Amino acid sequence: MSPAPTIDLEVVVSPMVDLTVGGQFSPTTATILSGPKEAVLVDTLLLADDVKRLGDRIEAAGRKLTTIYITHAHFDHYFGLEALLERFRGARAVALPSVVDAARATHESARDLAKQWFAGKALDCTVLPDALDGETIVVDGQELHAIEVGQGDIPHSTILHVPSIDAVVAGDVVYNGVHQMLANSGPGDWPRWIESVDKIAALNPKVVVAGHKRPELPDDDIAAIVDGTRTYINAFIEELAAAGDARTLVGRMQERFADRINPTALIVSATTAIKRKQRAATSEVQA
Ligand SMILES: [Zn+2]
Repeated sequence: MSPAPTIDLEVVVSPMVDLTVGGQFSPTTATILSGPKEAVLVDTLLLADDVKRLGDRIEAAGRKLTTIYITHAHFDHYFGLEALLERFRGARAVALPSVVDAARATHESARDLAKQWFAGKALDCTVLPDALDGETIVVDGQELHAIEVGQGDIPHSTILHVPSIDAVVAGDVVYNGVHQMLANSGPGDWPRWIESVDKIAALNPKVVVAGHKRPELPDDDIAAIVDGTRTYINAFIEELAAAGDARTLVGRMQERFADRINPTALIVSATTAIKRKQRAATSEVQA
């Protein structure tokens, strides 16, 4: 018997980009999974130049793009969809049903943000992925499994597991060398985010692609990527409890995670968390 055909995994990373509102947006990943004849893309990037480069990589791989899978309902992971579907006519776009619903609910406000934040460099997107029928995508006879793990940087986060090569394309459930976005979730959500990371660890992957990563970092340093994501959340919880203001929280996190890039994500997370903490304290006093 000939061995099962394997899958090539290629990660395309967009560079960090300046935001019109100040600060920067983290480098973001899209992943091309290629069998001998077919390919599946996971997430799409957002800026026109990056999506063009991603399309060029798909073309260079020389496989038929059958499917674009979206991990979660954030514009930086799916706004390249319309341009890619136009370029790769035979491809379908899919996500798990809860991701489609979440994308629909936030789509118009995401279109506004994409226009405002990126100075005309972001693509507009008028389409949404379709709900995937079941939880399996097949590439050249090999199964890929879509798994809803739950809370990541937003709720209804999913991952794509590639059992034949022990790989997980993890969206924003894990981060790799980049400050994590904790402004779209709160203290009640963070233990569940850690549980989502536990679910990835339980798959015993050899490769984990983070939704945001420092471009030069490898995808197979599981301790740094998987354990590192949990450590970061736990540290943020600890430092938030001790800090009276956002500046102190940012400083403490930067000391503990000096290697992580894009402090903008940390500043936004810290400012939001401190405001929420102060509001909670005020309402306790009033009660
Ligand atoms: Zn993201």
